Amino acid sequence: MKDDFIHKGKRRQLVELMREKGIKDQRVLDAMNKVPRHVFLDSSFLEHAYQNKAFPIGADQTISHPYTVAFQSELLQVKPNDKVLEIGTGSGYQCAVLLEMGAQVYTIERQNELYKKTNLIFRKLNYRPKRYFFGDGYKGMPEDAPFDSIIVTCGAPYIPQTLLGQLKIGGRMVIPVGDDPQIMTLLIRESATQFSKETFGEFRFVPFLDGKQ
Ligand code: SAH
Repeated sequence: MKDDFIHKGKRRQLVELMREKGIKDQRVLDAMNKVPRHVFLDSSFLEHAYQNKAFPIGADQTISHPYTVAFQSELLQVKPNDKVLEIGTGSGYQCAVLLEMGAQVYTIERQNELYKKTNLIFRKLNYRPKRYFFGDGYKGMPEDAPFDSIIVTCGAPYIPQTLLGQLKIGGRMVIPVGDDPQIMTLLIRESATQFSKETFGEFRFVPFLDGKQ
């Protein structure tokens, strides 16, 4: 898939828009400037790939708005080599942004159709998550825990205790909580048993569903 000067130009404009909307972490902005978002979309959406919009990616799911990706990535405070667990691989775009930030990404998707489709995109672009797993995100990845941070990219009806238990002490979990809309929530593991919580306004996600299919 080509990534020409038109795509690159549009990407720079998108990154400028993210800055105007308040995203300050330069590493997030640099990563978004590198990831060819158009490759993660079906070709019919190609010309819209660099607008601040969500799009269908098949199996009734959507790729998150660029602003949502930027906002969640900033809240995670990812450092190079951090172990990051992502719930809801979807198109793979958010995962690619985290990889460009130097994270080791462990990512789970519950829809087999999407899982396979995104696997091909990762290969095409040579993005290599540390683990890419077809399964139920409510279980997390106990065998690879603990993580420096966890990002949930689907709307959670509640905060899953299992995932909190897979955070390092000092680790951060960013999760949209509630029905439509969700409240963006940051939880920090202060000690083995204590978590602090901060909220950041309303966002809209597809639901965090049980099981896999
Ligand atoms: N991070 C994605 C966002 C995709 S939308 C991106 O950048 O495109 C959210 C995704 O969460 C969907 O693909 C949906 O299938 C997935 N999802 C929902 N419930 C899940 C669960 N229990 N485990 C893993 N993935 C889940």
